[in-house]
Amino acid sequence: MNVDTALQGPEMIHLHGTQAVAFRVLIVASDTIERMIFARCVEMLGWTAETASGLDDATAKFAARPHNVAVIDLRMEPRECAILLRCLSRDRFDPAMIFATGTDDRAHPAALEVAHEVGLRVAGILPRPIDPYRLHGLLLAGSTHFSREPRGNFPWPTARELEDALRGEEIHAEYQPKTDLITGEVVGVEALARWHSPTLGCIPPGRFIPVAEQSDLIGRLTFRVLEDAVAACAKLRQIRPDCSVSVNISPFVLSDPLLLPTVETILARNKLPPRALIAEITETALLTSMPAVADVLHRLTINGVRVSMDGFGTGHASLQSLLRMPFTELKIHRSFVGVCRTDPDAWKLVRATISMARELGLNVVAEGVETEDVSDRLRDVGCDMGQGWYFGRPMQDDAMLRWLLPNEPHGRLQRALMVAQLMPGEPHQAVAAAE
Ligand code: C2E
Ligand code: MG
Repeated sequence: MNVDTALQGPEMIHLHGTQAVAFRVLIVASDTIERMIFARCVEMLGWTAETASGLDDATAKFAARPHNVAVIDLRMEPRECAILLRCLSRDRFDPAMIFATGTDDRAHPAALEVAHEVGLRVAGILPRPIDPYRLHGLLLAGSTHFSREPRGNFPWPTARELEDALRGEEIHAEYQPKTDLITGEVVGVEALARWHSPTLGCIPPGRFIPVAEQSDLIGRLTFRVLEDAVAACAKLRQIRPDCSVSVNISPFVLSDPLLLPTVETILARNKLPPRALIAEITETALLTSMPAVADVLHRLTINGVRVSMDGFGTGHASLQSLLRMPFTELKIHRSFVGVCRTDPDAWKLVRATISMARELGLNVVAEGVETEDVSDRLRDVGCDMGQGWYFGRPMQDDAMLRWLLPNEPHGRLQRALMVAQLMPGEPHQAVAAAE
């Protein structure tokens, strides 16, 4: 797809698909050398970089052609920065911001505040001295959270609302089963954060995780989910003694010094062996300060926690990171699995990934398994585990416990309801398929 076609309208941009993604990045920085470094990082991803030295130049370039991501040097005059953000927020492409911090510490909270006020998404903060790995990771984060919906249809929650929600215990985890494709047994669950707000309704993680990451709330949110997940796993292990729980760990939490002690404390408090916990790390995180990430992952594994590479196929992780980091599991992103029956190229990629993972001694989990047919195909090519609506949707911990009980009527009923969603109009077959 070429850039011109991509810019005809948001519907032309393919995300999480197998098609190439053409992104345009606007770099606003006064320093010529920095503009060149930023532009090189963007071009390494195969995207188009445009540079501007100040407000007038940036607004003119932006008016001529919208951009998907903007990298803004916060050393610019605060008033000019605010004008620029307001101008960017009027774009229908919903551009993500990356702020390169200035020498003045007050610049970055002020820019975040304006961005929130005008409803702009912030992919992250880039501290000086500039680390190209981190910029690379933020560019990917900015692109993968890219939204196709007009902002007005589903407003971004503010950091204040999220903080209140954490304080008011509105955020909890739901659990989705991970199933062994040969035995059909549930071998683990993934904890997925859920926010049920009495005022805003149910907000999907794709909407509040980025807000948490931009506002330093991601540590609290992760520890909240971790606390729930480990306690739920301790209960699940009374029914399935080997059951594990997977928790998504954002790249921003990997650099939090509280991560390792908190994991240790929560496991000890719930008397859960570290092996029962799997930390899911997205591919994007691996580009962010690679040596530091490797160090944290090694320390987690030394303590016995297992580490999974999440969403494989969407984040451009290098093969080197697969070899150097202590992964025990690789999860293939659902965008490849979901289309594997209809897209022969996606299916080739799925098979190649499974065979590579096996060569490296990693367990493979396919995400987004929605039908029996896909589950069978994956099993036949050596995929170890599946996760997806075919096996079970995310559920609250007590529903998951009931679901796991053998011959428990709720389990059969829920399975029938889930299969019925995939076989509309055929309730009897759905119940039979679920039995
Ligand atoms: P993920 O880690 O890849 O989680 C799997 C996502 O796929 C979940 O979306 C799940 O509901 C969805 N899913 C599962 N089976 C199917 C299926 O068969 N078909 C389709 N189409 N989708 C399926 P969800 O819950 O909306 O979460 C989205 C993402 O948000 C997660 O992707 C994860 O990256 C992030 N997330 C969720 N909870 C947390 C959290 O506690 N911490 C962090 N850092 N990220 C989280
Ligand atoms: Mg995950």
